[in-house]
Amino acid sequence: MTPENARLHQLRGGLAPVEVGARGIESIARNADCTRLRAIVIAGLTPNDVIKNVLGEAADVMSPFAMTLTQAFERRLLANAGGSLLTVYREKGHLDPQDAKIANVADLAPRDTHVDRIRRERETRRLIELKMRGDPTAPNLILKPRLTLTIVGVSHAIELDYLVASDREPFYRVGVIKSYADRGGKTNNAHVRSACREAAVGTLALRQLLEEAGRSADLAGDRVDMVLKAPASFSPRLFAAQRAESELASLSRALTAAPSDLDQIEQMLPAGASLADPAVIESLPNHYCSTCKEHCSLWKHCRAQAQAQGNAIILGDQAAEQLAAAGSLNRAMDLLNGAGRPPDNRAEAVLAAELQAASLLLDRIANG
Ligand code: SF4
Repeated sequence: MTPENARLHQLRGGLAPVEVGARGIESIARNADCTRLRAIVIAGLTPNDVIKNVLGEAADVMSPFAMTLTQAFERRLLANAGGSLLTVYREKGHLDPQDAKIANVADLAPRDTHVDRIRRERETRRLIELKMRGDPTAPNLILKPRLTLTIVGVSHAIELDYLVASDREPFYRVGVIKSYADRGGKTNNAHVRSACREAAVGTLALRQLLEEAGRSADLAGDRVDMVLKAPASFSPRLFAAQRAESELASLSRALTAAPSDLDQIEQMLPAGASLADPAVIESLPNHYCSTCKEHCSLWKHCRAQAQAQGNAIILGDQAAEQLAAAGSLNRAMDLLNGAGRPPDNRAEAVLAAELQAASLLLDRIANG
């Protein structure tokens, strides 16, 4: 065991590590101010593991319907050795007729064993190096590539849906397959942004790989591809070369924020403490917000903690912003009722006047 792995093992308190994947890493950027989530992911755990194995509660499970839909769509698109995906690219003119080389990394080493995972990593690297060298045999589509991304000195494996490049393009873009229905302007923007961020995690891994090989990280570019499905059908809709600069920037920012290395995470915990202890999880600073529910299984736990602390965020983002001057719900109630100490400053005085005026108005509307 390397010294780094030994430290991670100690940090996890004996809990088995899991591969958090691109999705887990992407979730850090969704709440960059949450130290609790970052520490959990960096240690090689997921919020779901913590819920189940540390807090002893029922873990979140994806609805069987959504899971079946996702798997069926992906299977169909990657069927015939990736032929369907290739067809979509050709139809849209993003691959030329001669761009017909497809490699499926998962076919080479399909098992979920240490040996096969290493083989998938090596094969992915070998295929990408072909492209770096300008070898004409480099695949145009690499299905299920396995890359690594180093965050705060810890290497995390990520398995992506695919990489794509025509023969005339110098390097690969990352592609994600999602079973969300493309509804034009009505497609859920949060879903689209999250899919782009997930692909951007792969782009960061490609950048690191290029740098390790002494090449410019810029070769990986700042664009990603996304395949959604048409509403009420399994027809694929390709969104190629989508700009992802802001997703890459938000990920880079989130991944370099404190705690930015293992030392800092260890320093936050009492000596010998580990994330297997519920009290330690509780003591890690968090940042509950209204979007936590969309991506983090700990949301109920963190919301209850925010409620116990009288944090106005439990009433939503707008209320939290409007009540910011009070600092807590209890203080806001005191300002409304003229109870407790008088307003500490002008911001509290303005808030007290606004709350009392709103209360009077509500009273008039309700009682005539
Ligand atoms: S639910 Fe809790 S741990 Fe998860 S991101 Fe939100 S505040 Fe952080």
